[in-house]
Amino acid sequence: MLFPEIVYGPIHSRRLGISLGMNLMPVNCKLCSFNCIYCECGFNRPQLHPVLPSREQVKDALYAKLQQLSKEGVVPDVITFSGNGEPTMHPEFEGIIEDTCLLRDTYCREAKVSVLSNATQLARKDVVQALNRCDNRILKLDSAITTTMRAIDDPVNSQLTAEDIVNLLKVFDGDFTLQTCFLRGVLPDGRVVDNTTADELEAWYAVVHLLHPKQVMIYVIDRATPVKTLEKISPEQMQQIADPLLAEGIHVQISA
Ligand code: SF4
Repeated sequence: MLFPEIVYGPIHSRRLGISLGMNLMPVNCKLCSFNCIYCECGFNRPQLHPVLPSREQVKDALYAKLQQLSKEGVVPDVITFSGNGEPTMHPEFEGIIEDTCLLRDTYCREAKVSVLSNATQLARKDVVQALNRCDNRILKLDSAITTTMRAIDDPVNSQLTAEDIVNLLKVFDGDFTLQTCFLRGVLPDGRVVDNTTADELEAWYAVVHLLHPKQVMIYVIDRATPVKTLEKISPEQMQQIADPLLAEGIHVQISA
């Protein structure tokens, strides 16, 4: 599933309210520093020569959409960057966030600016500055164990470790949402992947305690995935995963 536009929606969601989606990645294929086995956008296809929209095109598209919504009397509750890949890979990400915040202040002052990211670009100062300007930083860590993280997320940088991601996430001093997709299944090469085992959860809880994010968001696969053998974790097991953190007063949101 690919988003065919720069600005899409608004989508009416019970959890977020009226949400406007932002896609900074190409419209003909996914472009991401990960190749997650559960990605709803499919796998990276660099042979399609991905073309990114310019900062000006993003600004114009958002301006046009906010003007249209304003005429219709619709006020978004949130402007969410996700789309066809990793939004922070856009070379003008910081400028785009600056433009978005200015347009938000003009047309929908109360709307939150949120970014869903896999955290791989956090070594870039401009990306951290831009994310700090947003209201919500929702950052992915699918496993605290490197072999599992690599099996699930298949990073383009094959040397990337789970520890690298954890160290990058420290830059926000807990002021972010940690997001994890729980799943199990068998990869095409026969490897079994399961980030819900006792060892996995022990390592993941330790990272939650180390990073103390303001919120933890855990979810399950929901739509068709590029690897077809993945299993959806039951709502009961998702609740069991959340329970120890909830007992400590940690804010956990479960999408199951
Ligand atoms: S980080 Fe997100 S966009 Fe990138 S491959 Fe994973 S699920 Fe897809």
